[in-house]
Amino acid sequence: ELYNQIQEAKGNIRVFCRCRPLIKEEIPAGYKMVVDFEAAKDGDLGILTGGSTRKTFKFDRVYTPNDNQVDVFADASPLVISVLDGYNVCIFAYGQTGTGKTFTMEGTEQNRGVNYRTLEQLFKISKERSETFTYSLSVSVLEVYNEQIRDLLATSPTSKKLEIKQSSEGSHHVPGIVEAKVDNLKEVWNVLQAGSNARSVGSNNVNEHSSRSHCMLCVMVKAKNLMNGECTKSKLWLVDLAGSERLAKTDVQGERLKEAQNINRSLSALGDVIYALATKSSHIPYRNSKLTHLLQDSLGGDSKTLMFVQISPSEQDLSETLSSLNFATRVR
Ligand code: ADP
Ligand code: MG
Repeated sequence: ELYNQIQEAKGNIRVFCRCRPLIKEEIPAGYKMVVDFEAAKDGDLGILTGGSTRKTFKFDRVYTPNDNQVDVFADASPLVISVLDGYNVCIFAYGQTGTGKTFTMEGTEQNRGVNYRTLEQLFKISKERSETFTYSLSVSVLEVYNEQIRDLLATSPTSKKLEIKQSSEGSHHVPGIVEAKVDNLKEVWNVLQAGSNARSVGSNNVNEHSSRSHCMLCVMVKAKNLMNGECTKSKLWLVDLAGSERLAKTDVQGERLKEAQNINRSLSALGDVIYALATKSSHIPYRNSKLTHLLQDSLGGDSKTLMFVQISPSEQDLSETLSSLNFATRVR
C-alpha cells in the first residue's frame, strides 16, 4: 500500500542500475574501474570519465558488484506482487552485451534471477491469499529477432507468421502462441528450461544469437475474488533485451548490419515510448517496433515499469556505459 502511494507520487517508471564485478580477464589485464559507488545508497552513481572529471547519474536504486540476486529481487518484489492486484507490469534489462542482463533476469541454477524468483513469489503470495482469491498462472516465452516473433514453447515449428492482435476489450496478444499453465515451481523451471533450449536451436553460437534478440517471458494472471466473484486478468512481462552496443566498424554489411539495425530501431522505439509516457505526450508510438507493440498493455496507463540498466565497471567499456546511462537518464 505504501509502495503504491510512493509509486503514484513518482510516476510509474522505476530505473535501477546494476554494475557487474570485474571479470577474470579484466583483472590481469589491469583494467581500471571507472565506476564509483560512494553514494550508491542514495541512488547516485559516479563515473570517472577521464582525468579528474566525474559525472553523476541518479537512479531509484544502484547495485554494486557486491549486491546479490536476493538484494536485487527484494526491491523488485513489491512491483511483481502488484500483478496479483490486477496491475500490468513490465520489467526489463537494458545494456551492452556482457554486463549481466541475463544474469539479472535468468540467473544461473545456483544464483537464480528475477524470472524464477518472480514466479516463486507469485505462488507464495497466491497461497497466502487462498481464502479470498483464486489465481491461475500461465506463461509464454517468446523471442523477437529481426522484427519477427518466435514462440519458444512451440513444440512443432509453424510456417505461419506470428502477429500481434488487439482483442475487443483492448488488450494485445499473439494468436496461436503457447500459454503454458503452471501450478508449481517445478513446472515453471521446466518451462523456463524449454524456452532457453529452444532459443539456441538453429544458431551456431548461442550467446551471440541471444545477445541479438529480445527474450520475453510473459506471465498471465487470472484472479477471482471469492468474496464478490469479481474476475481480473493481468500480465507481467520479463524481458532480457538484445545488447545495446553499437555495431563494430568491421560489421558494416550483410546479416550483421540488418540485425544491428533492427536492434537499434527497437531499442530506440522502447526509449521513445518510455520518454513519451514520462513526458505525458498525447501520442505514444507503440507501433514502431514488435517489442513495444508486444509490451503495449504493460507500458503506460496504470501499469508499472521497471528498467534495469546493466553496466560494466571497466574502463574499456566506458563509452558504452555512458551511452546506457544516457539512455536511462532520458527515460527517468
Ligand atoms: P548479458 O546477458 O548482458 O550479455 P551476462 O548475464 O551473460 O550478460 O553476463 C556476462 C558474464 O558476467 C556472465 O558470466 C555472468 O555470469 C557474469 N555476471 C554478470 N553479472 C554478474 C554479477 N552481478 N555477479 C557475478 N557475475 C555476474
Ligand atoms: Mg544475455
